[in-house]
Amino acid sequence: MELGVTISNAAVDPQDRTHLWCQVIGPDARCPGCGTAGELRDHADRVLTDVPLAGYPVLLHVAVPRFVCHTSSCDRTIYRAGIDRIARSREAITTRTRRWICQQIVVNKMSVSAVAAQLGLTWKTVNQIALDAARSLVYDGGHLDGVRHLGVDEHKWKHVRGQGDPSYVTVLIDLTPVIDDTGPARLLDVIGGRSKKVLKEWMAARSQQFRDRVSSRQRVQQVTCGHRGRKGDPLYKVRRILHTRTSLLTDKQKILLFESLTSHDDHVAVEITHQIYQQLIDAYEHPKRREGKKLMYKVLRRIRQGLPAGLTELAGLGRSLWARHKEILAYFDTGVSNGPVEAINGRLEHLRGIAQGFRNLDHYILRSLLHSGQLADRINAL
Ligand SMILES: [Zn+2]
Repeated sequence: MELGVTISNAAVDPQDRTHLWCQVIGPDARCPGCGTAGELRDHADRVLTDVPLAGYPVLLHVAVPRFVCHTSSCDRTIYRAGIDRIARSREAITTRTRRWICQQIVVNKMSVSAVAAQLGLTWKTVNQIALDAARSLVYDGGHLDGVRHLGVDEHKWKHVRGQGDPSYVTVLIDLTPVIDDTGPARLLDVIGGRSKKVLKEWMAARSQQFRDRVSSRQRVQQVTCGHRGRKGDPLYKVRRILHTRTSLLTDKQKILLFESLTSHDDHVAVEITHQIYQQLIDAYEHPKRREGKKLMYKVLRRIRQGLPAGLTELAGLGRSLWARHKEILAYFDTGVSNGPVEAINGRLEHLRGIAQGFRNLDHYILRSLLHSGQLADRINAL
């Protein structure tokens, strides 16, 4: 198998998890201290979560060889064979599982909770793994190479329910393509905290070469409008509208909101997506079914058509929900009947997972990064 192991035993436990016991093929016996091949001592069991099998979790029990170093001048005595091909050190998942997680979330649009269930891991663990992977694409994948103009924007984090998350987030944007007129700006990262502090720490973590190259560091609004968030700026107006519940918006505000969305405003796109998910759920949970049905119809129609460019994920969801709109709306007439509910149950779970995720800052950042569109085609590089 591609991992470079041979399976010696397999079992399924009462929780439907498949356990695979395996041996490493051709382990690296060289001592990390002196480079001399050591003497095999024993094996240590390392448990790693692997890619699920038919939707159920798989646990690999890798027998990692341990060696004794006999070089007298070497300060290492016992060491484990490196199994970098299978998993990074100190990690609880295989490398290919990391890639699988990102593919499921970005390409297959699965929610973190659905991915976590298939892996037998917690929501928090999977979210963190995906976020780390997304960041490694940004920071280690040459993503920062061409940055000369950095845009910095901060906005108030609205979905916190006292979980100790910072109440502001800072958005870092590469404005170089906009200034060079070669394309839209790129979202680089979203980091909890006020922009002044975040920017200072972020720049300090970059190379001197990077710091020398980045000449312009300003707020997005200064670049797009020539001055700071003053009343009348398109972004300023949009931000105010976004902080108002959509149901309270006038038609004029709604038009303004959609017209003002630009492709570089990825974080705004994420907020809109969140609001629509919330509206779908509100419709379902409406105490009066007739009202709920009307709300649902409106939301379904809105996301089927009239979405601005850049909301790819939402547009995809809109199309698939519209294809089943009769079943979905029938739920409101039949009420407790299970049939139509089951028909969309998977979808609703997906939405719940996503809406829940939006109350978590790390998750918001993950989705902002993964859905900004520039990372999706590079997941295989992980
Ligand atoms: Zn040694």
